[in-house]
Amino acid sequence: MCGIVGYTGFQDAYTIVINGLRRLEYRGYDSAGIVLENKNANFSTAKTKGKVDDLVAISENLKGTASVGMGHTRWATHGVPSDRNSHPHISNNGKIALVHNGIIENYDTIKKMLTEKGYTFKSETDTEVLVNLIQYFMELDANLDFPEAVRFALNEVYGAYAITVMHEDFPGVLVVGRLGSPLAIGLGNKEYFIASDASPFVEFTKEAIYLEEGHMATISLENGVDIRSIVDNSKIIPAIQELKLSLEQIEKGGYEHFMLKEIFEQPKSIHDTMRGRLIVEEGIIKMAGIWDHLEKFTNANRIIIIACGTSWHAGLIGEYLIEEFARINVEVEYASEFRYRNPIIGNKDVVIAISQSGETADTMAALKLAKEKGAFIYGICNVVDSSIARITDAGSYTHAGPEIGVASTKAFTAQLTILSLIALKLGKHNGSLSNGEFMKLITELDHLPKKIEEVLKSTHDLVKNIAKDFVNAQNFLYLGRGYNYPAALEGALKLKEISYIHAEGYPAAEMKHGPIALIDENMPIVIIAPKKGHYDKIVSNVQEIKARKGKVLAVVNTGDTQVSEMADYVIEIPETSECFSPIVASVPLQLLAYYIAVYRGANVDQPRNLAKSVTVE
Ligand code: GLU
Repeated sequence: MCGIVGYTGFQDAYTIVINGLRRLEYRGYDSAGIVLENKNANFSTAKTKGKVDDLVAISENLKGTASVGMGHTRWATHGVPSDRNSHPHISNNGKIALVHNGIIENYDTIKKMLTEKGYTFKSETDTEVLVNLIQYFMELDANLDFPEAVRFALNEVYGAYAITVMHEDFPGVLVVGRLGSPLAIGLGNKEYFIASDASPFVEFTKEAIYLEEGHMATISLENGVDIRSIVDNSKIIPAIQELKLSLEQIEKGGYEHFMLKEIFEQPKSIHDTMRGRLIVEEGIIKMAGIWDHLEKFTNANRIIIIACGTSWHAGLIGEYLIEEFARINVEVEYASEFRYRNPIIGNKDVVIAISQSGETADTMAALKLAKEKGAFIYGICNVVDSSIARITDAGSYTHAGPEIGVASTKAFTAQLTILSLIALKLGKHNGSLSNGEFMKLITELDHLPKKIEEVLKSTHDLVKNIAKDFVNAQNFLYLGRGYNYPAALEGALKLKEISYIHAEGYPAAEMKHGPIALIDENMPIVIIAPKKGHYDKIVSNVQEIKARKGKVLAVVNTGDTQVSEMADYVIEIPETSECFSPIVASVPLQLLAYYIAVYRGANVDQPRNLAKSVTVE
């Protein structure tokens, strides 16, 4: 998500920054900007909504004017993508410039404090608060050094950030800091580079320092790189890394494919989805979109979830969640069917549209129809300011970060996280969910990123090995019950999409009504069988499959015995409440699809015939 590039040295800073931003384009962004410090130590700034090409169109005159500067590609979190909200942001006195990746969670409180002191703000971003907070500290104490003021400001904010800051009165100095978002410093010969990953500078130097969490650095040609702890200013001796990766590998963070990178990003993406929304200590879920319209939801005649593909599977789980916890009637529809079947919708209906890209043509058309008929429409999208996000009455972004692999992974689990938050919030609000149950569930939700991390660690090598045995499979069945029935559908879809093996998902009990005819010793069957969730019934299903010699790959809870004893392959995942089990169970199923596809030599990130953003119906 988004990118930072900085430079101080002897080359043309404009060229280095612009080329560097292009290298970071793969991360996804909606606006771009640059600030250069010219020979008289004055700033020249250019920024715009759009792509790096749009930035170049308005800033080419800056080429050759500076050897110090920095740039940014923004992936909007606070405020729409616009010229004004683009970075860099400049302090009120015009002297400090800052670029930022991440989210300042307490920006509101700081903004109020600064506003009371007379500061004004040009943008809606959280970032502009930070640059003015630095100015504020420098004005409080005229003797305060610039890096020290940055440090003071960083100690006041919480959230996630990678920042780079420049000050007109401190020419040639770049101050950087990081917490949660990545930042690398490239060490050249009489030049230094800063970037979100090493790809912008790998052609100039092979030596880099990856700034650690909670560290900051002051970088200048005069004094080199001085690294400090943000908390107590203690000096840090950095480890200098030799870059061995190719450009392509760096962009994928060392993973072979974007899909694998995205699977591994899930502890973070789920955490990001909940960040600032789930506040366990206070026992609250704070989501602007829902908060402002709670009555619309709780008084709704029914909620209709519309989506396509993976998002539709998330919608099915959403139905289980909202009906169980908020006791509101929910229906889930394929957008493409809904729009063409003259559905009955009225102004007491709430329609939730789910789409990773926010551009899915069928979902968009279905939403327009629902809007015309007077329904309240709510969007769940990953891409900020996408078409769906713009036409809905309200909504929630999943904040999973850009998803590049065509087969959705982290966007799916982020959608499930948002739907869990919505269901729990509604249940708490309308009294369907007791306070005790609510607290238990939100505490568990809060621990999910840790659990996913454990699952990735404990299942990765195992699944990678198991996948080898299925390279030549022709068909697959995926079975699950309750919450894990849609998880089975999603597991099958992942395999189909990237390995081109025919796979079907079914509710386990439906097996007897047809698919059981397919079972023989050549039919692999993935069965999701957590302890909580009709376990005894699943045990019987496994028995029925084994009686027909089917090959069972079971996803069970750690320590399981009954299903495990019968299964040919066992993948253990930690126990959760049934409602969260699809989030955890999806992870090994994503890995299974991924490795089978890799062993079959398929183009995992761009499978044949598929597009990431389906903008045609
Ligand atoms: N939160 C900041 C904004 O919305 C930074 C977003 C980013 O990481 O690009 O402007």
